Amino acid sequence: MAHLFVPGPTDVAPEILAAQTHPMIGHRSQACADLFGRIQPRLRQVLQTGHRVFITASSGSGLQEAALRNTVARRALVCVGGAFSERWHEIALANGVSADRLEVAWGEPHTPEQVAEAVRRGYDAVAIVHNETSTGVENPLAAITEAARAAAPNTLILVDAVSSAAAVDIRPDAWGVDVLLTSSQKGFALPPGLAFAAVSDRALDRAASVPHRGWYFDFLLLEKYLQQNNTPATPAISLLYALDAQLDRILAEGLPARFARHERMAAVAQAWAEERFAVFARAGFRSKTVTTIVNTRGLDIAALSSHLARAGMAIANGYGPLKGKTFRIGHMGEITPDDVAALLAEIDRFLDRPG
Ligand code: PLP
Repeated sequence: MAHLFVPGPTDVAPEILAAQTHPMIGHRSQACADLFGRIQPRLRQVLQTGHRVFITASSGSGLQEAALRNTVARRALVCVGGAFSERWHEIALANGVSADRLEVAWGEPHTPEQVAEAVRRGYDAVAIVHNETSTGVENPLAAITEAARAAAPNTLILVDAVSSAAAVDIRPDAWGVDVLLTSSQKGFALPPGLAFAAVSDRALDRAASVPHRGWYFDFLLLEKYLQQNNTPATPAISLLYALDAQLDRILAEGLPARFARHERMAAVAQAWAEERFAVFARAGFRSKTVTTIVNTRGLDIAALSSHLARAGMAIANGYGPLKGKTFRIGHMGEITPDDVAALLAEIDRFLDRPG
């Protein structure tokens, strides 16, 4: 039975947690190179890419920073419509990367037309969050990337798929995504601490012309070491063992089945939310991994959370300015539609309680 219905970290299967107890190995050993070498093709398979996938000992925010620092010499466009896209803009400024904002109201998606019009102004890269975990909006990424590539072929496309990769069907190569980044603790259902980025040749070529990329997340240095199944700095070895095991689990389920399971969970959660409350995200653009529910009944979210905690379940309050006004149900990773139904039945018990 699932416990964590927060939008990451997710529950981790017991055997995956156990995989982390593998005895330690040296990171310059053949055993570590073999581990890295085993991981790479299956990681590409799960991310549906032929591009190299960098693995860093960081959470996803580290690679948000990396994506901008490695690809932008002049100016970036950041699509902002929620807390995490807002953070991406903050990350740009904190790194001295000049960035314009293309804003939509929270709960709305970006449209291909808006993005195409904006990128025509001329940017090194456009950054967009695929699945806004604060608002529960899934941006129409295929259409946006197609429009952006047509409008500005030399503008690189950077995508934060932190809360959608390995749960939602994303085609980085076909869609022309230059950097697709994610974290381990969401769709991958791993403990937090690893981040992955599928990086195109175009992005690597660009990095070669960008000064001051930093060191820890320098794509060229990561590439040099990846060629030898290694990393510039000490990797999170225990987490790599967990990743090695989890990739097998993900591929045993099969990607189409995994994506379909997430769609079913979203359908269950969103139909329930429409009946009892309202869904925050615009219809047609709703996330498959997290449902942000408008607190139309003025519920005490802390009381709801305490009730759920007694049943061994956890959901998330609204994020930032949406705290109290919304609450969120995460349905990603190992969770099943039956788990979601059990959670919703428990919330119904809270709603029906006397007094
Ligand atoms: N982007 C999105 C869409 C997220 O949901 C999150 C975290 O929840 C982040 C970025 C930041 O990721 P991390 O916490 O792995 O650094």
